[in-house]
Amino acid sequence: MKRKLVFATNNAHKLEEVAAILRDKIELLSLNDINCHTDIPETADTLEGNALLKSSFVKENYGLDCFGDDTGLEVEALNGAPGVYSARYAGGEGHDSQANMLKLLHEMEGKENRKARFRTVISLILDGKEYFFEGVVKGEITREKHGDSGFGYDPIFQPEGYEQTFAELGNEIKNKISHRALAVQKLCEFLQR
Ligand code: IMP
Repeated sequence: MKRKLVFATNNAHKLEEVAAILRDKIELLSLNDINCHTDIPETADTLEGNALLKSSFVKENYGLDCFGDDTGLEVEALNGAPGVYSARYAGGEGHDSQANMLKLLHEMEGKENRKARFRTVISLILDGKEYFFEGVVKGEITREKHGDSGFGYDPIFQPEGYEQTFAELGNEIKNKISHRALAVQKLCEFLQR
């Protein structure tokens, strides 16, 4: 019988990405699948902390093995900001990508060092033990927006070794080289061992 594992998300895109890699090895369940309709608080001040809040919420309340993720954009010239606050950088409830990008471009005005990285952390709780997996993609913040695919900061992030932003490269390329893909691959390799 396949092992069941909860992914502490209802984000269809993320679920699909992970399910595609795990295929027949693991039965992946979303928060909806386990009837969890709580908006799990992301109140930690690190990506590791937030990822662990998600996985441990499910373990404590549902008794199921689980993993959760958190991602941030870390900009060198801004001492790692927006980092763990990437979704809410421009204030408010968060997830206003246009406002977040405008704020970041404004903060970067006149800065020559454009280096940045996306970092994803996955926290896995399996058989009573905690594990972390990290995926990093290095790149630069462009001076203006380019492209319209993807989400979040994609139009202003150009990964190292490419001449286009994530939003211009499109999902097929992005999903092979992204921070999230790298972290998910590490998780999957571990689970398949
Ligand atoms: P989450 O932890 O995956 O929800 O990501 C937090 C925030 O980081 C999102 O709201 C986006 O603003 C940003 N972000 C995460 N992943 C990406 C990405 O692949 N491209 C662009 N922005 C991202």
